[in-house]
Amino acid sequence: MHHAIDESHDPNLKSWVESANDETTDFPLQNLPFGVFHTDDEEEGDGRIGMAIGDRVVDLLELCEAGAFDDLDDEENPIDEDLDAPALSILLMSGRERWGGIRDRVRELLTHGNDELAGEKELLEAALLPMQDCRMLVPGEVGDYTDFYASVHHATNVGSMFRPDNPLLPNYKWIPIGYHGRASSLVASGSEIRRPCGQTRPDENAPPVYGPCKLLDYELEVGCMMGPANERGSRLPIERAEEAIFGICLVNDWSARDMQKWEYQPLGPFLAKSFATTVSPWVVPIEALAPFRTPAFVRPEGDPQPLDYLDSKHNRESGGIDITLEVLIASKQMRDKGIAPVRVSVGSFKHMYWTFAQMLTHHASNGCNMEAGDLIASGTVSGPEKESRGCLLEMTWDGPGKPRKPIELPTGETRTFLEDHDEVILKGWCEREGYRRIGFGVCDGVILPART
Ligand code: MN
Repeated sequence: MHHAIDESHDPNLKSWVESANDETTDFPLQNLPFGVFHTDDEEEGDGRIGMAIGDRVVDLLELCEAGAFDDLDDEENPIDEDLDAPALSILLMSGRERWGGIRDRVRELLTHGNDELAGEKELLEAALLPMQDCRMLVPGEVGDYTDFYASVHHATNVGSMFRPDNPLLPNYKWIPIGYHGRASSLVASGSEIRRPCGQTRPDENAPPVYGPCKLLDYELEVGCMMGPANERGSRLPIERAEEAIFGICLVNDWSARDMQKWEYQPLGPFLAKSFATTVSPWVVPIEALAPFRTPAFVRPEGDPQPLDYLDSKHNRESGGIDITLEVLIASKQMRDKGIAPVRVSVGSFKHMYWTFAQMLTHHASNGCNMEAGDLIASGTVSGPEKESRGCLLEMTWDGPGKPRKPIELPTGETRTFLEDHDEVILKGWCEREGYRRIGFGVCDGVILPART
């Protein structure tokens, strides 16, 4: 299936919610991402489905109870049960017709000139909440979380640190490499991240030691939340892979590099990753990204072409997505002095060696069942330039055998890896001439000292 450009991407579309027409908002009418929220005075268990518009959160359950979605309802699968849940998974199981219908209806209701909600003062107050009064939760009740390694630039840089003459292993250009992450340690943006303790081996001639991680890092990643995909024992052909995608969000795969270096062979990352992974609150539906699709990575002469099951004309032509991605850091000293977070890197998701369609198709190619609500992360997004490296492991690397080159903060502090109380903020947005800019909001976390 091809997610086509249609009237929902019209850049002239305006809303009567004024803040949605602000040029700098991440959430104009052309975006309408889904998330899970509760208000400040409610409990986590009161979490329900919302949609972002300008500086407001649309409480979809309120709209539903007021009858706004009656035409989409179905006695056997009531729509209010999809929306009254602290996770998107139930709505996602209902399929694209359901969530797409809700999104189309909300767009209609919020479009400038629509007066269906005009005069409904009480309903508007209850259903259009100030974003600052809402607490956002992890958007999915993620059953499974997989992390790939799809940037060839990242894989080459990291490989060069350990194997300068042979950075890429022989499987890299044939298989989208990934590992199974831990869904239970996914946390919402804004959650504090406790520095992990673990086993490391700083001195190769001495036994390993247990203690606080000394080389704590972030990984800038893009996440793909799944809709219904394939049953166990069946596969997901690449022609149908885009159909299985619900939407896209930002992911910070916090990484303990010293623990990772000691534990990763032979079975891959384990405790170096599973202490916490931060997910951005808003999932941008894949349909909203249609204007920003790009060709898949063009492989240089000499690289193998993907095997047939990982190749399609559509994927070659528009399997990529041009998402500008940015990492910002603020130390405690910066925050105390009122200094704004400083940009550490900027790049684009379009440089990934493997597309999400290829990752999903490969993931299901053995008959593995991909479920609605699963989160598939891309792996660290690094581009060809030094300024587009998506983690400190690469950012402060100055070449084989050379000492690390720390980054400098505006306070004069330096960072090779993260210190306690550092805040890491990921941002993402899509821009293209002739279309409305849409954004992903932020994926934010602050490091707390280790518990010793
Ligand atoms: Mn990762």
